Amino acid sequence: MKTKTMKAFATHCNVCGYNYIFPQDRKEHAAYCRKLQRARQFFGDDLVLTYHQREELKKLGRSIWQNESLPLGERVDGALMEITGWYARSLAESGYNRKFESFGKYVIKLLRSSPRLYPAEICAELQKIYSVAS
Ligand SMILES: [Zn+2]
Repeated sequence: MKTKTMKAFATHCNVCGYNYIFPQDRKEHAAYCRKLQRARQFFGDDLVLTYHQREELKKLGRSIWQNESLPLGERVDGALMEITGWYARSLAESGYNRKFESFGKYVIKLLRSSPRLYPAEICAELQKIYSVAS
């Protein structure tokens, strides 16, 4: 007599970045994955990021804005990449609350609470971009 046994194995979802045990955590993953995909439709792919994507973005952004040999515009973009990584984390922590503050408001609040986060010339550019459009 044969018995059907399903062997559990660790798996990874490329869509949402979730690591889980199949089949035990299948339902939990499916719920998370659906939530993330709905969030992407609402907030956009560039703000709904997996942990790995956020870390990569922050690392790359930091290496760009800290490179003083690059033009200011590029360094500002680097700072924005890093901030996007933080914003994406906060957005995820909010459970993708659709009333979560806008990216522009987030930038302004960040600069106000940490005025020395970036060199003065980068802060000034960020203020210029986001002080009106929030
Ligand atoms: Zn998934």
